[in-house]
Amino acid sequence: MINHKFKSLLFITLVIASSCQRFRPWPGQAILAPRSNPTEGVSQAIGYYSSGCLKGGKTFNGRERGLIISQTRKGRFWGHSQLIDLLTEVGEFSHKVLKKAVVIGDLSLSRGGPTVGGHSSHQNGLDVDIWFDMAAEGPRSFVLLQTEEMKSILKDGVMGKGFAKPQQMLLSLLSQDKRVQRIFVHPLIKKKLCSDKMLFNEESLRKIRPWYGHDDHLHLRLNCPEGDKSCRKQPDPPVGDGCDQLEWWFTEEAQAEQAKFNYSFDSMKEKYLNGIESRPKECLGIYQGEKL
Ligand SMILES: [Zn+2]
Repeated sequence: MINHKFKSLLFITLVIASSCQRFRPWPGQAILAPRSNPTEGVSQAIGYYSSGCLKGGKTFNGRERGLIISQTRKGRFWGHSQLIDLLTEVGEFSHKVLKKAVVIGDLSLSRGGPTVGGHSSHQNGLDVDIWFDMAAEGPRSFVLLQTEEMKSILKDGVMGKGFAKPQQMLLSLLSQDKRVQRIFVHPLIKKKLCSDKMLFNEESLRKIRPWYGHDDHLHLRLNCPEGDKSCRKQPDPPVGDGCDQLEWWFTEEAQAEQAKFNYSFDSMKEKYLNGIESRPKECLGIYQGEKL
């Protein structure tokens, strides 16, 4: 059985780490809307993943191979230059090796900060969601991409065919990258990867963390880039591959913890406003009507 220390650690993670559930619109819209253009200059991640902002946000040039940027209407396609560089490399890998396109979900808003609906992280330009469902390369209907939702790899509570070799190869590539801090996936995915010692060594498995949801996408998080002095580091995951600590995720206690997440209108509004209120002082001025 899992020890008390580990449970405490899980709880802390629950509080401070990301929760990237699928997009749930907030009908009230933003009360303070972030500006839609990034600030100029080199990229700087400010603050923490769940309380911060992004300066010098960068985005894709539209000519990347092997990538599809989804649901652009949400405006969450901005990130730190290191994140855009890494995703561009992922696209090249996908194009050349997987012969498919990787579908990119939310990054950050142009200046980071809290988003309306769903995410508590994705605030400092270092988080991105990547769909497990890959696509054929080639032109794809814009309308389709705007309305299409992520697909779960689970079928009747067990792993279905949506998680296969290409998804494992992508996770292997990402987990070995020094820029990557951790990757959140569904506990059943972590369980499967633990049995594949060809693609995953202890260090890469250490970075791959089980988390609620994440059966339709992985959440990739980068380390604070060197030189970004205002970026707050998240402690590295506990030493070891974590494969013998997965049982808890399949208990009733874990189900009960998940049920505590509240996606009501009031809860999301409160979270959003608290996010604006508590952001680091370096992030003042990124909203409409504030002096930069
Ligand atoms: Zn996410």
